[in-house]
Amino acid sequence: MKTVGILALQGDFDKHQKMLDSLGVNVLLVKTVAELLKCGGLIVPGGESTTLSLLLKKHDMWKPVIEFAQDHPVFGTCAGLIMLSKTITREPVDTLGLIDIETARNAYGRQVDSFIDDVRLELNGKTEKYEGVFIRAPRIVSCGNGVKPLGWHNDNVVLAEQGNILVASFHPELSDDPMVHQYFLDKINQIL
Ligand code: GLN
Repeated sequence: MKTVGILALQGDFDKHQKMLDSLGVNVLLVKTVAELLKCGGLIVPGGESTTLSLLLKKHDMWKPVIEFAQDHPVFGTCAGLIMLSKTITREPVDTLGLIDIETARNAYGRQVDSFIDDVRLELNGKTEKYEGVFIRAPRIVSCGNGVKPLGWHNDNVVLAEQGNILVASFHPELSDDPMVHQYFLDKINQIL
């Protein structure tokens, strides 16, 4: 069984760990390049993207994560989505630029900056209702041609993929339902 890495420099990596533990997956909390290279895929968790950005550089993981993503699945949630986005249109931060989307940070407005609401997912040809937990969430403003939207909150894309990269603006690790993590595991297992 492949090991799934969770970037553990900052943020809610422990919640992802709990979710993967419940699915019986081998998990490695990743803080170094050597640990990254033991993994079949990587989750970049939610937290604070400005801090994540600085810590990735400080730990010399910036280029290694970009290289890792060329042939391994990488899943970014919330601040992780910000880190993987190509362009940030609001409150810019240096990002890894691995998925062709434009993202606005903290873009759901002050009063409703954190909320739980139903989102609609389309995974493996099935439409599913899912509880979306949004915490000072980034908003995906636009997707490039190569990006496949997989989930929506009203008209906003909240889950999307492009090749190896999967991103969610909500926190699937805070819901009880493992379907989004299972989708990511399937991506990892498809790679020989
Ligand atoms: N607001 C945070 C940021 O801009 C993201 C919040 C989160 O990951 N829950 O980095």
